[in-house]
Amino acid sequence: MTNKPLSSEEITELTVGLNRLARNLWWTWDQGAQEIFQELSPRGWQNLYHNAVAILHELSDYELRVRLQDPGLAAKVRTVLRAFDAYMQEKDTWSSRNHPQKKGHPIAYFSAEFGFHETLPIAAGGLGMLAGDHTKSASDLGLGFVGISLFYREGYFQQAIDANNWQTEYYTQLNPKNLPMEPVLNARGEPLVCSVEIGVTQVTFQAWRVNVGRVSVYLLDMNRPENEQHFRDLTLRVYGGDSTTRIMQEVLLGIGGVRLLRQLGLQPCVFHMNEGHAAFLTLELVREKLASGKSYQDALNATRQECIFTTHTPVEAGHDRFSPELMEYAMHRFRSQLPIPFTELMKLGRVNPASETEPFCMTVLALKLSRAANAVSELHGQVSRQMWQCLYPGKTVEQVPIGHITNGIHLQGWMKGTVRRFWHARLSGEGARHAGRISGSDWEKAINTPEFWASVEDPAFISDEELWALRYRLRRELIEFARRRLLIQRQRLTQGDFIAFDALLDPDALTIGFARRFATYKRAPLIFQQMENIVRLTREKARPVQFVFAGKAHPRDDEGKRFIQHIIHLSKYSDLQGHLVFLENYDVHVARQMVSGCDVWLNTPRRPLEASGTSGMKAGCHGCLNFSILDGWWREGYDGTNGFAIGEDSHSESIDEQDRIDSANLFKTLTEQVVPLFFMRDADGIPRQWIHRIRRAMSTLVPQFTTDRMVREYAEKYYHTK
Ligand SMILES: *Cc1c(COP(=O)(O)O)cnc(C)c1O
Repeated sequence: MTNKPLSSEEITELTVGLNRLARNLWWTWDQGAQEIFQELSPRGWQNLYHNAVAILHELSDYELRVRLQDPGLAAKVRTVLRAFDAYMQEKDTWSSRNHPQKKGHPIAYFSAEFGFHETLPIAAGGLGMLAGDHTKSASDLGLGFVGISLFYREGYFQQAIDANNWQTEYYTQLNPKNLPMEPVLNARGEPLVCSVEIGVTQVTFQAWRVNVGRVSVYLLDMNRPENEQHFRDLTLRVYGGDSTTRIMQEVLLGIGGVRLLRQLGLQPCVFHMNEGHAAFLTLELVREKLASGKSYQDALNATRQECIFTTHTPVEAGHDRFSPELMEYAMHRFRSQLPIPFTELMKLGRVNPASETEPFCMTVLALKLSRAANAVSELHGQVSRQMWQCLYPGKTVEQVPIGHITNGIHLQGWMKGTVRRFWHARLSGEGARHAGRISGSDWEKAINTPEFWASVEDPAFISDEELWALRYRLRRELIEFARRRLLIQRQRLTQGDFIAFDALLDPDALTIGFARRFATYKRAPLIFQQMENIVRLTREKARPVQFVFAGKAHPRDDEGKRFIQHIIHLSKYSDLQGHLVFLENYDVHVARQMVSGCDVWLNTPRRPLEASGTSGMKAGCHGCLNFSILDGWWREGYDGTNGFAIGEDSHSESIDEQDRIDSANLFKTLTEQVVPLFFMRDADGIPRQWIHRIRRAMSTLVPQFTTDRMVREYAEKYYHTK
């Protein structure tokens, strides 16, 4: 190491590199890159909520250059930039080896929401997180892939709890200049402007590019000066407004999305609709084909060859349906461009094409105009085939052409820094030998392999003591995070429900977490149906149990808000005080703290409505065990040794009965298995059997439930075109 100061050119190269790095979300799943932004401004890292672009804006160019004269920092930056460039330029990818694609013919993936990172809050829940993780893995695997969504300049709402413990929503304006995105420009360097017909109006839109590793995601934005205000506000909020807003957003997403791709010169080989919101893209593809002279039947068939569809929920309200009048209104100008009567198009969204009153269903449209469709877990596949059998007269339920690919998560993106460093050290040191051919620099690849996670079952690779120390560290980090958050939450409320924050939550207690959207079918308060029993558990001096909850209810879901109110009320005024906390404003960052810090991840959906669920998949690599109804992914993941099941692989048709049975089973498993196993310690104070379960969870679940595996399945089963 020489301590020679860097030349001015070298420093310029590093500052340019850092600016490029901050504008590619790759940095969010690279530990070294994160540490650089944190080191550049530890306060900014906290106050600007981990926003790399904003941190670079806050530092003056002069300060940055001076800081880079520190040879230690400069060396770190150089190492990270080298890794970034190597990633961006890699030629030998999974895709190039297995499914080479022609340039200019990517997979186009349409989703109304994408969750990438806490600085770009344009996801409402699991659907968006999945879309973000799908994109990150598409990049890792080297797929030709583009994403399409909308730029919601107020994003999804921020949650605050008022003095009545009622959820209130507020919105903050996102500033594109401070976000990891850049305007899409035309050849003259001006914003590229496209247009789409909505109602009777020709409306314009622009687009922003988000760089996700090697992949681009384009966010469509109607906030253009030439548009009327109500159109400018169409891209204000995720799922904002009423069904008129909704249908117009979906026209922009589907039809506008295809138009943008064409302007960019892209001819996707596959259009992948992530949920029905994007299904209008099929109508634009049909329009293009009619305009080129194809017959209506040929246009439909050709469109079908290009499209695939993933359905994400058996919940009725999750399937958009628009009245014929609303369709007529929203499509008024678009349909005048078609050489066929509009009544023909309406048939594409109806179960019974002959009906004139049946609403237009986006899922029906997507199913009718795709060459393949899939659900997101095996059970969800069964349920979906039943649900849509009506569209395939003459076919038995088993013959309904809806398959399934079980969801996953982008492993590196979800791993907490503490754990990334932990596994990285394993892979580059002693462990490397153990795990076979894996060298330290290849850990990104190794971390996704079953071989690596299988080696975690071996105590010679990693000891009980090391795993248990990691668990303590992660639990402690969560407790400190929760105390900080609660201090801020309660300071906002003027009335003094004072509590001592350093007495809140116990670092030795079995910590049970629950966080997700507060949709009623997810039954967040189910565990508190047995209130007295639960209170008793938290009071056991030698074997204390505690709970951390978080989640947002949809702004118009009063039932969900009542669930939140009930749980917060318990946390403040019941005997659970100090043993139950509710963290406000659930988002990606809160999610990561919770899935890593909790010992147990609780999930109590009303089966079979969960479809897949993904938050439990984020727990595994951190050594947090799942404790869940056998719905969605857990029904496939649970093997009797790698976590805990609530009830059996079946459910009652009666909702009341189901709630009663599930609540009883939950308590039974909790008291007979979870709590005893966690507190069964040997002479060294180590819960050997619990740790054995952690090892089993890591080896059987982690490599299986990743988007790395999931996207490979999509590529093999559905993206493959002859
Ligand atoms: C993972 C995740 C979800 C999905 O959680 P489920 O338990 O699958 O519903 C929702 N929101 C955020 C912020 C997440 O990180």
